[in-house]
Amino acid sequence: MNMSSKVIVTIFGASGDLAHRKLYPSLFRLYKTGNLSEHFAVIGTARRPWSKEYFESVVVESISDLANSPEQAQEFASHFYYQSHDVNDTEHYIKLRELQNQLNDTYQAEHNKLFFLSMAPQFFGTIAKHLKSEGIVDGKGFERLIVEKPFGTDLETASQLNKELEETFEEEQIFRIDHYLGKEMIQSIFALRFANLIFENVWNRDYIDNVQITFAERLGVEERGGYYDESGALRDMVQNHTLQLLSLLAMDKPASFTKEDIRKEKVKVFEQLVNPSDEELKKQFIRGQYRSGKIQGKKDISYRSEPNVNPESMTETFASGAFFVDSDRFRGVPFFFRTGKRLTKKGTHVNVVFKQMDSIFGQEIAPNVLTIYIQPNEGFSLSVNGKEVGEQFQIAPISFDYETDATATGASPEPYEKLIYDVLNNDSTNFSHWNEVKASWSLIDRIEHMWSENQVPLHEYKSGTMGPQASFDLLKDYNAEWVWQPAIEE
Ligand code: NAD
Repeated sequence: MNMSSKVIVTIFGASGDLAHRKLYPSLFRLYKTGNLSEHFAVIGTARRPWSKEYFESVVVESISDLANSPEQAQEFASHFYYQSHDVNDTEHYIKLRELQNQLNDTYQAEHNKLFFLSMAPQFFGTIAKHLKSEGIVDGKGFERLIVEKPFGTDLETASQLNKELEETFEEEQIFRIDHYLGKEMIQSIFALRFANLIFENVWNRDYIDNVQITFAERLGVEERGGYYDESGALRDMVQNHTLQLLSLLAMDKPASFTKEDIRKEKVKVFEQLVNPSDEELKKQFIRGQYRSGKIQGKKDISYRSEPNVNPESMTETFASGAFFVDSDRFRGVPFFFRTGKRLTKKGTHVNVVFKQMDSIFGQEIAPNVLTIYIQPNEGFSLSVNGKEVGEQFQIAPISFDYETDATATGASPEPYEKLIYDVLNNDSTNFSHWNEVKASWSLIDRIEHMWSENQVPLHEYKSGTMGPQASFDLLKDYNAEWVWQPAIEE
């Protein structure tokens, strides 16, 4: 975007953790790059009775590392206004409308409005309803809504939530955040897949044996025990992030690189997700929970001993499984995933494992693997087979590694910065469409149901390992094995 946006941004939940850690810094980065300049203001709302001065000081503090000078930080913060607000109180929306109109005139924002719901989802419906009934959403200028995850806890609650939002906003105006989709390397999957002949032509079931997605965390539930115990890994990581990533890996080439065509292909993948029989479901998806363990001499406690966690909890802190996509491109190719807390190492990786070639000169040949590193390092690597130096003809794997260097990583936009930028530009490519959410819940609900009835075991795993043995055995059933197996240091 060359021009700066004209917009009044209203943040619900302005005193919260997400607003402080992510939203203010991301808005500031957009300000520094000129995407926001004089024609913008932010209304922060939350229950606390803050003054404008106090709100400004909160904003200044949250961007202190990023600002070139205290004056720059102050100038940015002067665009922030605070409105104490209870989301259930109609009177408060009337005041909000007055402030909105007043700021629109002061900043000449052309009635463009962006609403960011950064609070618990149970409030989304009432906020959307009031925005319309109290005339804050008035059809003038652009009006866009950003909602945080989780989008429902099952198909029923997600549908209900969606219905409530749709009474005020059209699907094209709703941007459902999946912050992983703002990550640089996820976005570069398009470049890797479609701008390289060597990948584009082999990105199908004839050449790819399996795809492996790992979202590994070293940390446990920390202070989020209460929330996590109600949610679990499947809802927290698989329904959204894992399936979104899968859709980018599995989709067909869009007719053009417009948001409409990309979305069409992504939605198709969700609709083509294979819905296995109950028996298959039991075998294809496994769950685990961490027990205590030791890593680099440091002891981790068991999940059931974590604060705010039920000591008899059956919630999974690890989930693993195999998805299939019923498309001509990928029919029969497993998309394995695993995600968990208290694993050996933090890292989000994708491994695309190509088919094994026949042996040559009587030597076994390792399959080619394309690895995409999403976090904490960004980059990719490709393993190929070469000849070892020497008189003998000995084949050995070599890998081409590319890691985004630290300066480039430092300059790469924060996921929230990139995503807010996209919303300002009305680009919904990196957000979840309702059809995607709906299709993913339909399948996840079935797994969730089976697990809640304890129809399959809850496998234990030692903190500091890469999950229970069952996750390794799962791949064996498909003649595969996890490519990423970080060394365990006790
Ligand atoms: P938080 O609990 O820190 O903040 C919640 C905010 O909502 C506060 O500003 C609070 O004042 C406000 N609020 C609560 N009840 C209210 C009411 N009745 N009327 C008006 N305001 C009210 O939460 P958070 O961590 O900032 O998360 C916000 C959203 O973002 C949640 O949906 C969460 O799931 C999602 N999210 C957060 C993170 C994160 O890193 N914090 C990551 C991913 C998603």
